[in-house]
Amino acid sequence: MIIADPKPFGQVKEYIKDYKRVLVVGCGTCVTVCLSGGEAEVQLLASGLRIALGKNGKNPVILEGTVQRQCDEEFVVPVLDRVRDERIDAVVTLACGVGVNFLADRLGSVPVFPGVDTTFYGASAGQGLWAELCAGCGNCITAYTGGICPIARCSKHLLNGPCGGSEKGRCEVAPNSIDCVWQLIYDRLKKLGRLSELQNLLPAKDWRTASDGGVRRSVREYLQEPK
Ligand code: SF4
Ligand code: SF4
Repeated sequence: MIIADPKPFGQVKEYIKDYKRVLVVGCGTCVTVCLSGGEAEVQLLASGLRIALGKNGKNPVILEGTVQRQCDEEFVVPVLDRVRDERIDAVVTLACGVGVNFLADRLGSVPVFPGVDTTFYGASAGQGLWAELCAGCGNCITAYTGGICPIARCSKHLLNGPCGGSEKGRCEVAPNSIDCVWQLIYDRLKKLGRLSELQNLLPAKDWRTASDGGVRRSVREYLQEPK
């Protein structure tokens, strides 16, 4: 899922301090699971904004809402309707950056502000902890690395084995909290009986499928309108 962290409260407060009717809108998917942008976080942020701006002598109307997804038209239409019908003059979204963009593209002259910092694609790594597992490179190489991604999980994104800082299976960047991914890859391939594959030469990675290649699109031609 996409992981995001709540933005510092003061930053969000600053964004909206001059608006009179603000909608704080959450997203029911990834950011709900990683506890940064679901219904509960919308309530917390909206309450905090009411209190903090009230103390400053401003009393904006802070409205709340959460939709299942902010990256699909059908789920976002009710947000657009509310903005129009309830004369909202600014939106704070707690969706990931995709949701910020998706709303901004559709909200005309109404500004959209991010309420979270989108960080990475990851998964749960323990209670209250999420870890990066994929960097969306567009050309997955994990078939050769035992299903473990050296791009997302190596602090230096090394593709040809460990750097000199790998020690006792830990990454030199943060030995107490990060495994050296090349140790994980070695151990995994060994367990799979495929260790010898590490000696295979692979062509240099083509990074044009990653964000370095420009704005990316994903097409399912069978769903597209005939031309
Ligand atoms: S190789 Fe690319 S697509 Fe595969 S997990 Fe790593 S970043 Fe993601
Ligand atoms: S110690 Fe391992 S994970 Fe850390 S930067 Fe070096 S190769 Fe990458």
